[in-house]
Amino acid sequence: MKKEWDHLEKENDKGVWTVFPELCKGCGLCIEKCPVSVISWSEKLGFMGTPTVEADMEGCIVCGMCETVCPDTAIVVERKAKGKVPPAKVV
Ligand code: SF4
Ligand code: SF4
Repeated sequence: MKKEWDHLEKENDKGVWTVFPELCKGCGLCIEKCPVSVISWSEKLGFMGTPTVEADMEGCIVCGMCETVCPDTAIVVERKAKGKVPPAKVV
């Protein structure tokens, strides 16, 4: 049977940010590297018994830096697709 991962998902108009507490060891690297400092400690505990993290989506620019630096792939950042560009008219 497929495992259902516990997760916290948050979104804004730019994208969706998800953390998986069962993978987060609470190292704080994502907090340190977020360019707009919108990640903070959460009350939810990870698999090491340490706090996990959450993002304030009001300020998140959906850059993906937290996903890139997390050593345990505990964060996934997805950009929302931009509207379809209408086909160019040939004149
Ligand atoms: S996607 Fe970028 S701005 Fe948003 S929480 Fe992660 S590092 Fe910060
Ligand atoms: S970098 Fe990954 S493991 Fe470290 S605190 Fe952030 S989400 Fe948790």
